[in-house]
Amino acid sequence: MNQVKPKKFLGQHFLTDLKVASDIADTVDACPDLPVLEVGPGMGVLTQYLLKKNRPFKVIEIDYESVPYLHEHFPELGDNIILGDFLKMDLNEAFGGKPFVLTGNYPYNISSQIFFRMVEHKQLIPCCTGMIQKEVAERMAAEPGSKVYGVLSVLIQAWYDVEYLFTVHENVFNPPPKVKSAVIRLTRNGKQSLGCDEALFRRIVKTVFTQRRKMLRNPMKQILPKGCPILADDVFNKRPEQLSVQDFIELTNRVSEYV
Ligand code: SAH
Repeated sequence: MNQVKPKKFLGQHFLTDLKVASDIADTVDACPDLPVLEVGPGMGVLTQYLLKKNRPFKVIEIDYESVPYLHEHFPELGDNIILGDFLKMDLNEAFGGKPFVLTGNYPYNISSQIFFRMVEHKQLIPCCTGMIQKEVAERMAAEPGSKVYGVLSVLIQAWYDVEYLFTVHENVFNPPPKVKSAVIRLTRNGKQSLGCDEALFRRIVKTVFTQRRKMLRNPMKQILPKGCPILADDVFNKRPEQLSVQDFIELTNRVSEYV
């Protein structure tokens, strides 16, 4: 069977370095015993190593051309090859409601959407590993004070410990992407709730980072009523990138009395 022709609109950049593929597959070893769901297997470069982990294993691939290729090369996967869109998949159905590890060399064009979906299903996904655009990996792992600390950092780190594992050069892909890549691992931090109004927490984080150079007082005027007394508090002199996840939780609790 012919090789799959890479399609740009699906974010297809096939990994060609088997050592890197095997190293990415090994990132699931830190989350033992759980079933594994691979997003976007393409021609199966990671799949071949994930199969050796001998765990319940499924792959979901949106590309109608890759799926027959996978059936031919990995007949042992059978019905565990799903043709579909990860963003629309019913994750409760993936392994009969059991928690699983999410992994893959992800389609970079939808990586943020994949991770926001993961957070929505955090009770099902205690561990998530894989490769994404280096810049996105850096944003996910960033600490307060860093130039790239932002919405993705706070909303993910609220629920997951983030490890930046290693960087991957663009010349090990076909076709080479324009950006460098990085492999990450996210592990649930065990928090069952944040101890604040979580919808308001998300709203505050998203709102203040639209004006990341400004003191919180400015963007928070969109959320707090006009002339709200707490706008005089010192915390509103800070810029969003100075606040830790815990600071955002405390801010949310302070603000929730007034909205
Ligand atoms: N894992 C392969 C392919 C990586 S490219 C490798 O490392 O070589 C990203 C893959 O994700 C492509 O195969 C693409 O078809 C697939 N993909 C893109 N959008 C998807 C979606 N919404 N759901 C599932 N798979 C998707």
